[in-house]
Amino acid sequence: MKLAQRVAAIRPSATLALSAKAKALSAKGIDVIDFGLGEPDFDTPEEVKNAAIEALRAGFTKYTAPGGIDELKAAVVEKFLRDNNLRYEKNQVIVSCGAKHSLYNLAQALFERGDEVLIPAPYWVSYPDQIRLNDATPVFIETREENHFLLTRDLLAGRITPRTKALILNSPSNPTGSAYTQKQLEELGDVLLEKRLIVISDEIYEPFVYDGFKHTSIVAARPELKDQAIVVNGVSKSHAMTGWRIGYAAGPKAIIAAMETVQSQSTSNPNSIAQKAAVAALRLDPRFTQTMVAEFDKRRRQIVERLNQIPGVTCPMPMGAFYAFPNITALQDSRWKDRPLKTANDIADYLLEEARIAVVSGDPFGAPGHLRISYAAPLPLIERGMNRMAEAVSKLKS
Ligand code: PMP
Ligand code: GLU
Repeated sequence: MKLAQRVAAIRPSATLALSAKAKALSAKGIDVIDFGLGEPDFDTPEEVKNAAIEALRAGFTKYTAPGGIDELKAAVVEKFLRDNNLRYEKNQVIVSCGAKHSLYNLAQALFERGDEVLIPAPYWVSYPDQIRLNDATPVFIETREENHFLLTRDLLAGRITPRTKALILNSPSNPTGSAYTQKQLEELGDVLLEKRLIVISDEIYEPFVYDGFKHTSIVAARPELKDQAIVVNGVSKSHAMTGWRIGYAAGPKAIIAAMETVQSQSTSNPNSIAQKAAVAALRLDPRFTQTMVAEFDKRRRQIVERLNQIPGVTCPMPMGAFYAFPNITALQDSRWKDRPLKTANDIADYLLEEARIAVVSGDPFGAPGHLRISYAAPLPLIERGMNRMAEAVSKLKS
């Protein structure tokens, strides 16, 4: 059977694939420590679960409006005003089955053959393939490790062509953990305004910032961008709700309406019960998220310290998200017994097989020579995992 050409051009999400591999090993009784997947290990808050139970009991189990219930759109509008100083109307908001789904709908609504979409590298694994699935071309802008992998005004301006349609910006970033200051966003905003480019701002890691860093949305930094910007966010990370599948986006009415049409012809509404739960999440006391972030902060310091003690590994302190992003270039071109380990993929495979720790190779993030290590795991597990990694690395020969 011949599959459509567009499928041949894409690969399964590397993060989800690794997680499946780690789970399969665990199911066989193998003790794997999973630093693979980016999902908080905290439980969804009780208030949120109760809202879902209430919705279920009240029979809120039917189709809803395809782009989400009014009550949730209102809670999203409140959230943007409260946390980001952004004013939207409900008809500028869509609720989808996860932020990933909002991003996909956006790609469907905006991109077509001939369009170039700028992505600073390293990038989250799904951006390029979502663009390819819609026949457009991802154009990667290499950033520099010495500059915290941040996109600059000059780097951005240098890659714009007459075909450039949009930029995808992710702050705080998966996988690098870097985040943009208000001033850096203003500078990028100036280029976007001048060239009239769309910006898709993925802010799903918004609450996960450390050392007093303040998250700013690029639209708040340059309010004139509002007519050409879409902000994407969700409750997966902020409220430990990855399985509930609720994300949302806000932007110009026409784009949101187009996304809603796409959604109405594909998934219909996001799960009705999860929507009620998301209302409770967005109105929850911020202490839930703050407690979680404080715990992540301890883990961040611990894992970065341990990684830097491993010969051949260097790891900067990430400003945000919940990933350590060590440079392992010095471990490449090594060997384990007779097996050559040439790439980050090889090292990640080796660590899974030999050390029984699941970490994601930087390769699918456009970051050769790096690993992405999620520290969404309790401290004792981080300790054990790092012991295993240190031991496995000590067995490598150059
Ligand atoms: N953006 C980034 C950068 C992510 O890491 C993820 C992974 N959860 C998402 C979007 C999508 O999240 P979800 O679909 O669970 O809302
Ligand atoms: N975004 C998370 C990650 O990067 C979850 C997996 C996925 O959606 O790809 O690990």
